[in-house]
Amino acid sequence: MAEHESLEFGKADFVLLDSVSLEEFMANLKLRFEKGRIYTYIGEVVVSVNPYRAMNIYGRDTIEQYKGRELYERPPHLFAIADAAYKAMKRRNKDTCIVISGESGAGKTEASKYIMQYIAAITNPGQRAEVERVKNMLLKSNCVLEAFGNAKTNRNDNSSRFGKYMDINFDFKGDPIGGHINNYLLEKSRVIFQQEGERSFHSFYQVCVCVSVSIDAWYTDQMGRGSSSINDGADFKAVADAMKVIGFTPDEIQTVYKVLATILHLNSKVVAVIGVLLATKEENVGKALLYRTVATGRDVIDKQHTTQEASYGRDALAKAMYERMFCWIVGRINDVIEVKNYDAKVHGKNTVIGVLDIYGFEIFQNNSFEQFCINYCNEKLQQLFIQLVLRQEQEEYQREGIPWKHIDYFNNQIIVDLVELQHKGIFSVLDEACMTVGKVTDEVFLQGLNSKLAKHAHYTSRKLSPTDKSLEFDRDFRIRHYAGDVVYSVVGFIDKNKDTLFQDFKRLLYNSSNPVLKMMWPEGKLSITEVTKRPLTAATLFKNSMIALVENLACKEPYYVRCIKPNDVKSPLLFEYERCRHQVEYLGLLENVRVRRAGFANRQEYPRFLQRYKMISEFTWPNHDLPSDKEAVKRLVQGCGFEHDVAYGKTKVFVRTPRTLFCLEEQRDEM
Ligand code: ATP
Ligand code: MG
Repeated sequence: MAEHESLEFGKADFVLLDSVSLEEFMANLKLRFEKGRIYTYIGEVVVSVNPYRAMNIYGRDTIEQYKGRELYERPPHLFAIADAAYKAMKRRNKDTCIVISGESGAGKTEASKYIMQYIAAITNPGQRAEVERVKNMLLKSNCVLEAFGNAKTNRNDNSSRFGKYMDINFDFKGDPIGGHINNYLLEKSRVIFQQEGERSFHSFYQVCVCVSVSIDAWYTDQMGRGSSSINDGADFKAVADAMKVIGFTPDEIQTVYKVLATILHLNSKVVAVIGVLLATKEENVGKALLYRTVATGRDVIDKQHTTQEASYGRDALAKAMYERMFCWIVGRINDVIEVKNYDAKVHGKNTVIGVLDIYGFEIFQNNSFEQFCINYCNEKLQQLFIQLVLRQEQEEYQREGIPWKHIDYFNNQIIVDLVELQHKGIFSVLDEACMTVGKVTDEVFLQGLNSKLAKHAHYTSRKLSPTDKSLEFDRDFRIRHYAGDVVYSVVGFIDKNKDTLFQDFKRLLYNSSNPVLKMMWPEGKLSITEVTKRPLTAATLFKNSMIALVENLACKEPYYVRCIKPNDVKSPLLFEYERCRHQVEYLGLLENVRVRRAGFANRQEYPRFLQRYKMISEFTWPNHDLPSDKEAVKRLVQGCGFEHDVAYGKTKVFVRTPRTLFCLEEQRDEM
């Protein structure tokens, strides 16, 4: 018996459970985790539990075992899903995507890297140099983006602080010929502030260890926080090497270090150093930090900042410089990996596999604007999962007239609406507050929320439930997310949403004689009197990017990896039952099993099915004289003795278990 069918390791697919209950699901998940089987299927969905130890299951020989195989022929693995997505892309010319979800520390980023490594390993049998180059770049880009976009948090030593969606483009041979990265909302506030026990982005520590920056600066105290699991020195070399391989020039790499050093130095005492680093005059740096140029009617005057304004400006500059640099790095990588000069006429269609690794749902001690955006993003992805996996499946059975018992699941659209609905949602209320003329405070925003959303089932405020101890007066509101309740502090929402950076800084950086730096700040070209348009708010930008992301995913054939974090202490041994149960519940995994079990593993339109298997039966080979393809398929299936495992819809035949399909395939091969 194949290992994955042996009971010792539990059921390899939750669909095969004797009965579907939370207890059975959990027992199977726990048993498999304890036996070192970290992957389990729900049909074509992979459920993964973070092992928190090195697993010997990603090597070359394992890759060979999965290459070109069908899902059910081997024990559950990420590689099988990657292969399925690859086959769909190659054989059926479908754009596919692999959506990896789960909370912070559940193993999404690691999974995305294994998937990319697998795809790199199974492609380009002809060893074409250009394809090898592209593959190398795609893999190396991870290392660079992690250095600049990841940080140690209390949940995860290598937590992604940005969202990432990567398209890999394939040519007609199925070889990667390019890619494109979309990045989403970097948590730039981390540059100036981290919660106790956390760090800023890895890049700062790497540059401090290796480029001996003297850190007589405002941000020094954050630098003391080493971490035993992170080797900044070694990472620095790996990143520098990866940047070189990708094609960053020495000047570009130097500029990146200078930006990091500038941010570390940003302190009014060291304007001279910053002037040198940014290749601008010292007095201009001082002026931009202490004054603001404003246009009043026809006059342009320099207005001195208050101390508070000056320190706000300095922090905004630090954050903005880092964010700009990050986006510039992504753009620079895209320049190199994007498919260029691609002649579609000669090469045929170019297909895509997208890999999404985005920040997981998070609940911190203190949750702010960033957590709000991150959790909204997870609501959007859960909604997509519901639509694609749960709802579509049910709707198809109804459409096809297959008898079907409706399965209930929690539909989180109501929470998505609470956040994003025009005029009524939280983002709209926030934008409205930001538009208000005069002094707007976070409290004004909270009042707006309370007056508009008081009746919403997923919204609570202290005002509305004064006895609730978890909410503080005039500061907090709570959202009942699909994954749990989160209390958000409104402090900083207005500022973070407006995301103001004084125009003076943009001009300062645009006027640098360092061309790389200048390129990062094109809008510094505008003179004070030309700047009139109000930029879109951070919330609106994020919302728009999420809507575009979901639209993009929805038009691809999706594959899912659902990651579970077994404990909070990074232990390879501990399966915290309650913690895992909670994740299984909110990820909707049980509903997923029910829908899948009630349903059919495979469905094909009658003509297609016939085309593939007609040689098996004398009634259908080479042609049939039955009144319809549907009748012919019935005849064929009866002849093979699979009648019990099949249902006939209006346009499609539905096959319940994969095993039947394998038998058909075998018989076909024997012909
Ligand atoms: P975040 O949302 O914070 O970015 P994440 O889901 O991306 O979290 P990862 O960074 O992928 O989480 O994983 C956290 C840590 O768990 C890794 O640094 C690694 O130590 C461990 N880990 C995850 N997956 C595996 C695996 N398959 N094998 C071994 N260790 C793993
Ligand atoms: Mg991650």
